[in-house]
Amino acid sequence: MKKLLSALIMTAIVGTMAFAHDDNSHFEKQQEVTVKVTKISGNVYMLQGRGGNIGAIVGQEGILIIDDDYKVVSEKLSAALKELGSAIPKYIVNTHWHGDHTEGNEFFGKQSVIIAHEKVRKRLTDPPVIFGQKTAPYQPFALPTITYSERMHLYFDGDQIDIVYLPAGHTDGDTMVFFNNAKVVHLGDHFFNGRFPFVDLASGGSVQGLINNIGTATAMMPADVKVIPGHGPLATLDDVKSYQQTLTETVGIIQNAMKKGMSLDEIKKAGLPEKYKAYGSGFIKTDAWIETVYNSYSKK
Ligand SMILES: [Zn+2]
Repeated sequence: MKKLLSALIMTAIVGTMAFAHDDNSHFEKQQEVTVKVTKISGNVYMLQGRGGNIGAIVGQEGILIIDDDYKVVSEKLSAALKELGSAIPKYIVNTHWHGDHTEGNEFFGKQSVIIAHEKVRKRLTDPPVIFGQKTAPYQPFALPTITYSERMHLYFDGDQIDIVYLPAGHTDGDTMVFFNNAKVVHLGDHFFNGRFPFVDLASGGSVQGLINNIGTATAMMPADVKVIPGHGPLATLDDVKSYQQTLTETVGIIQNAMKKGMSLDEIKKAGLPEKYKAYGSGFIKTDAWIETVYNSYSKK
């Protein structure tokens, strides 16, 4: 229980520390890093450290993982993967460029093959400013070496893995990964389970695009799918649909207020109906969500 509590507190702190690439050494000393492993089905797992959720498929030929968390998690992540069969993954797919999903590239990149959308390679080569922080460019070996533009298939341990581009949503270089046999999808940061999402407008993201992409993704999913969110607990199709509905409804409310000529401050003051309260209890509070939607729909 104590562990769970400190994990929860840590998540809250990490929210504000997110993507602080080289600045968390003080933080590292204070908090012990743990990696929680959850078996999803057959040979597919979810691993949770400090940043974004990690998906893993374990095969005869090694391990493939989706995202690789912060650098401070790498050793613990490697130890957890070793328990599953191999300390170093054969393949790593980056769902997008943010450090809480890609910093592990620096640890694994000399041995693993890194796959991502072509825009991820570009962003990691010259990272944009995020939360007022300029992250250092990744070392060449930590960059994706296989990139794609629309969609690719990867055949691994008898499963066809679909790697699909989600345009201009959370960022402009997001990928969803679909394990067909296992019926498991990793949605990256398009999906904050039960919470308002962070939408990185400065990295080409948009709220409109994110909602459209969730629609595209749910249309591809079988009813009994298991969904790994970028952040939050493992989800079902129903969870994704209620998330989608919440985003659509709250965006509608904010858009109506904008059409009435209300200012951002006025809309924030008016807030959102009580039933969406839990959605504002994560990294992105209700005010931040209103501001993101406002800015996204003001942009032309
Ligand atoms: Zn992200």
